[in-house]
Amino acid sequence: MDDSVLCTIRERAHALADFVIGMRRDIHAHPELGNQEQRTPALIVAALKDLGLELHEGVGGTGVVAILRGAHTGPTLALRADMDALPLNEEADRPYRSCMPGVMHACGHDGHVAMALGAARVLYDLRDRLHGNIKFLFQPAEETYGGASEMIAAGCLSADPAVDAVFGLHLEPLGAVGELRLRDGPLMASSDALRIVVKGKGGHASEPHDCIDPVPIAAHVITNLQTLVARRFDVKSPVVITITYLQAGSAFNVIPEEAIVAGTVRTVDPSVRAGMRATISELVHHTAAAFGATAEVAYVDGSGVVMNHAGFADFVRRVIRGTRGAGAVVEMPHPVMGAEDFGLYLERVPGAFAFLGARPAHQEAFPCHHPRFDIDERALPEGVEIFSTVALEYLGRERRTS
Ligand SMILES: [Zn+2]
Ligand SMILES: [Zn+2]
Repeated sequence: MDDSVLCTIRERAHALADFVIGMRRDIHAHPELGNQEQRTPALIVAALKDLGLELHEGVGGTGVVAILRGAHTGPTLALRADMDALPLNEEADRPYRSCMPGVMHACGHDGHVAMALGAARVLYDLRDRLHGNIKFLFQPAEETYGGASEMIAAGCLSADPAVDAVFGLHLEPLGAVGELRLRDGPLMASSDALRIVVKGKGGHASEPHDCIDPVPIAAHVITNLQTLVARRFDVKSPVVITITYLQAGSAFNVIPEEAIVAGTVRTVDPSVRAGMRATISELVHHTAAAFGATAEVAYVDGSGVVMNHAGFADFVRRVIRGTRGAGAVVEMPHPVMGAEDFGLYLERVPGAFAFLGARPAHQEAFPCHHPRFDIDERALPEGVEIFSTVALEYLGRERRTS
């Protein structure tokens, strides 16, 4: 890409700072939970209508797909922004604080939408240079894991034009502003849900020998699950099983009929994940049987591993280092065990997901999903620039991907 175009992208991205920050604040003040997005998609449609982009509403529920067709033929790149908020009460006090009690944009999805809207403006102005198309995927319900699968089922990757590659950014409140963090292969973990019911035989607390007490059996199940992680799986391919819920009984002198244990299972290797349901089920049933109890195991598939394609990740790495300097990309040594449904797109088309640093300047930084989560909004035009640069380079005539 020649330097004048680069300058154009940078200048335009930064000239849009007020617009992008304004959109982010508007969405931040009016957060909507997954699959309840109404105002946010309407705002997106209003912001893009003037540009004459092809708009498809109600995709996979409340999603919006916006298509920017370039002046020349070529492949199609999807840029994804998720739209939903979290069931949290915002604690920070600021003018654009959430006006919805118990709902908050604590994962930066407000910023993702704003950056994609900014990139749409920049790229629209450069459409004469685009050899192919850009499909903006404004996705609902990321936090509840339904959004990506619904959008895909509705044809967002396959319908005219079919998507050849996908790219996404996630704001990272602990990283330096504008810094892009990525890696080849697994970037984020799979996230499945586990619910176990240990079924015993209730009775008087003073007569345990006449009962099958599910409480100590549940304790054994929890301990055995931790031993499973430590002893059964290769430490170089991390596995996390966290039990977050334990419930049994209602009185101090009654042995209950059952105990319920629930939690989450995380892996970064699809082959490890594939065997997890059977492995956990076997362990739980045998543990329960050892004490004369039975168990029900519900293993619910959530989102898969976010598996970056090395070729596309390297393309992004080279483009961003080439345009923003060698220090602009930070190589992540390990995947993070948090989850994202972006992995579902990557199971179908090549692409990459990356984190964009947005650490607040003059205040303590809180992680995603914290009631005091915030970003440095100066990261937003940087994200517009990164989205636009990657898209223009991907759809440039001299595109070189490996
Ligand atoms: Zn989140
Ligand atoms: Zn998120």
